[in-house]
Amino acid sequence: MTVRRLVHRLGFRYALHRRDLPGSPDLVFPSRGRVIFVHGCFWHAHGVCRAGRNRPSSNQAYWIPKLNRNRERDAANRRCLRNLGWRVLVIWECQLKNPDRLRARIARFFE
Ligand SMILES: [Zn+2]
Repeated sequence: MTVRRLVHRLGFRYALHRRDLPGSPDLVFPSRGRVIFVHGCFWHAHGVCRAGRNRPSSNQAYWIPKLNRNRERDAANRRCLRNLGWRVLVIWECQLKNPDRLRARIARFFE
């Protein structure tokens, strides 16, 4: 929601969750050829923050391969989208804590 509000305030029109695109990106900007994913740090295994590196201590044989698969699938989806000519921005949950920086990043993405 934070991201949607920011994008809206910047004046960009988007569509939500286009299922016909790889990974069904959270926000799609068809006329600008851009997509944005908003990833939860745990589920998408963000490599640089604590939530993303956190691994449940129980049932690791299940979690570790699962989270690795999520990350690999995300990378494959991004590659696929880029090959189709889309520009891709990933916004991580932990980055929502800094709205000023996030706004600047989104604005740059649309330049
Ligand atoms: Zn993170």
